[in-house]
Amino acid sequence: MVAKGPYNRLEGQVALITGANSGIGKGVALEMANEGAKVVINWVFNEESAIEVVEEIKSQGGEAIHLKADVSKEAEVQAMFQSICETYGTLDILVNNAGLQRDNSFWDMTLEEWQKVIDVNLTGQFLCAREAVREFMKRGVRPEISCSAGKIICMSSVHELIPWATHANYAASKGGVMLMMKSLAQEVAPLKIRVNSIGPGAIKTPINTSAWATPAAEKALLELIPYDRVGDPYDIAKAAVWLASDESEYVQGITLFVDGGMTLYPGFATGG
Ligand code: NAD
Repeated sequence: MVAKGPYNRLEGQVALITGANSGIGKGVALEMANEGAKVVINWVFNEESAIEVVEEIKSQGGEAIHLKADVSKEAEVQAMFQSICETYGTLDILVNNAGLQRDNSFWDMTLEEWQKVIDVNLTGQFLCAREAVREFMKRGVRPEISCSAGKIICMSSVHELIPWATHANYAASKGGVMLMMKSLAQEVAPLKIRVNSIGPGAIKTPINTSAWATPAAEKALLELIPYDRVGDPYDIAKAAVWLASDESEYVQGITLFVDGGMTLYPGFATGG
């Protein structure tokens, strides 16, 4: 991760990033801290790595805490939000990032594999967004901090759009995130609460190591990416900072694809 700031576009704001002890979430947390936000690192497994992210932020002069909560468990999510408000007074930014895969052919997929992915990737985003909206509504706009009452960024995927054989549970969860995000964005826009998604393409993180870890796998993956480069968490972090900042004030209910062109049907590049 390259420190580029600080530009302080998020100064005075509190940001919760779920699943922030790994991959994209970690990248977003570091970059938001770099932009002046106080950052809450949510984690559910591997406390050590959450502590490391907090230490890294503090060593660069930032402010962070870590909180354990399974985003698919209502009581744990509510306890996490209460703890954030006790520590920092309020929350300004939610990055609904926690997610996982349980891949299987459709005909062999167990109900447990289906349910786990829906519980974490979709219900988890609902539970966190609901608590965030409740806090944003209670507090309202503080013009000296931000022109919005709060910002929610849902980590979706190119697979909210692109079907994905052997990943029906994952694609269904991200398709669900897309319409949950848009419905919520429509509902809370009059309250000056902004809700958007990021749709990452292929980003090098532990969730998809097998897709890029060998030269042969990376070559096959690049066939799907017109820009001819696999993404890095920093690519997503920069987009998340922009969507959380007042620079994007008039942006509401969109999915910003950050994918090197993966959603451009690259198979048709040579005429189809
Ligand atoms: P990752 O595995 O590195 O990170 C996922 C994080 O979510 C981990 O910290 C994990 O512990 C956490 N998590 C899982 N279940 C949780 C739960 N119940 N409660 C709280 N935290 C939980 O993977 P990543 O690639 O960084 O994925 C982050 C997000 O980006 C996911 O929503 C994923 O679907 C999305 N995404 C990733 C890619 C990619 O190419 N890496 C592409 C599109 C979308």
